[in-house]
Amino acid sequence: NLQDNLDAAFKNLSGDGKLTEINVATSVKAIRRALVDADVNYKIAKSFTDKVKEEALGKRNVLKSVRPGDLMVKIVQDELVELMGGQSVGINIKANPGIVLIAGLQGSGKTTFTGKLSRHLKNKRNKKVMVIACDVYRPAAINQLAVVAEQVGVDIYKEMDNKNPVEIALNGIAEAKKGKYDVVIVDTAGRLAVDEEMMTEIAAVKEAIQPTETLFVVDSMTGQDAVNTAKAFNDRINYDGVVLTKLDGDTRGGAALSIKYTVGKPIKFISMGEKMDTLDIFHPDRMAQRILGMGDIISLVEKAQEDFDEKEAKRLEKKIRKNQFDFNDFLKQLAQIRKMGNLKSLIGMIPGMGKIAKDIDIDDNAFNKIEAIILSMTPEERGNPGVINGSRKKRIAKGSGNRVEEINQFLRQFEQMRKMMFQMSKMQAGGGNMRMPN
Ligand code: GDP
Ligand code: MG
Repeated sequence: NLQDNLDAAFKNLSGDGKLTEINVATSVKAIRRALVDADVNYKIAKSFTDKVKEEALGKRNVLKSVRPGDLMVKIVQDELVELMGGQSVGINIKANPGIVLIAGLQGSGKTTFTGKLSRHLKNKRNKKVMVIACDVYRPAAINQLAVVAEQVGVDIYKEMDNKNPVEIALNGIAEAKKGKYDVVIVDTAGRLAVDEEMMTEIAAVKEAIQPTETLFVVDSMTGQDAVNTAKAFNDRINYDGVVLTKLDGDTRGGAALSIKYTVGKPIKFISMGEKMDTLDIFHPDRMAQRILGMGDIISLVEKAQEDFDEKEAKRLEKKIRKNQFDFNDFLKQLAQIRKMGNLKSLIGMIPGMGKIAKDIDIDDNAFNKIEAIILSMTPEERGNPGVINGSRKKRIAKGSGNRVEEINQFLRQFEQMRKMMFQMSKMQAGGGNMRMPN
């Protein structure tokens, strides 16, 4: 997969003392192949690696102290972030009510996403939300939205006998104005493939309701097709942003990398499951880290904190801010994660664990190993990781049934994670752009 292939491309450099025309060319070629294998269009992959090459050759003499492999990872990561749009972009719901129109093919995940977004706006941003059922072709679709709305606790506007989505949408919005709703989300019908009738209909709805935000929902598992569909919809309805769904599945990641470049519209949300509790705002930098196998510890921390009780979260935040997060805290987090379920997607977010999550059938083994290592530490070591020296490592390795290298690897990952969390907390404290604007 993409992550492994990129990994291999970087490993090629690890024996070399510096970047040269030759080793840069070799790794750039491997990177390009990895991208194409992951369903990234060849033209995009080529322009991407051309940039990486230029950067690498330009920087090699400036940053002499950095190891070639590390420098290359850094350059690729920066370029990936750029390729995916640089920054995360929020949605516009500034109106009374804000109107969000949801478009996309049948089965892409529109109704599911409508539920997730409703829940997010209601719970996290205190909005009064109404959803409007405009998929008029299948009665089951209206019922599905009703179930979802009930689940997340928002109101629904529906007309079982009306087959005109434009009318329903307008009637719903009129109701929403009367009821002083902050946001309405209009769930529409899709077809199995791009077709004229669907496009005409969605364009008519858009024209009539003048949404503040139009989101196009696409299944990431459809690879290159996802990009083509994204383009077809954008040509016709000029949407504001993309929702990439089913990233919890076995996707190759190509869609995430290509959409911004091809369509020029940002990915705003990603969806990683059928349950209503997993709406993720798309962060290009986190996605790049994930692709490079560094894991997405930041998302993990966010997710964990949702389930934490307030006090614990506050205490932890303080420790992170002082860069004092230790193994006791980590152990607590692991326990927390176990409670939350969906281990596979969660494990994939821990630095260095992305591969394990993909390759083995996840049971609790991966966690057991980490837990065993931590439990083999003395309380002093857990609270103060800095004291762990060579002889302590040997003892911990023995106690937990691992090799010393494995202990080293784990300690490195932990340090990396701690650093990232520390940096994150500084950004948040500084009022950085970690929250959705608006
Ligand atoms: P719609 O036809 O566009 O409204 O799509 P639905 O919301 O009905 O979703 C179609 C199917 O995909 C349903 O079985 C959903 O449970 C499933 N689904 C939607 N989003 C996700 C996701 O992010 N991950 C996974 N695994 N399944 C999803
Ligand atoms: Mg639907």
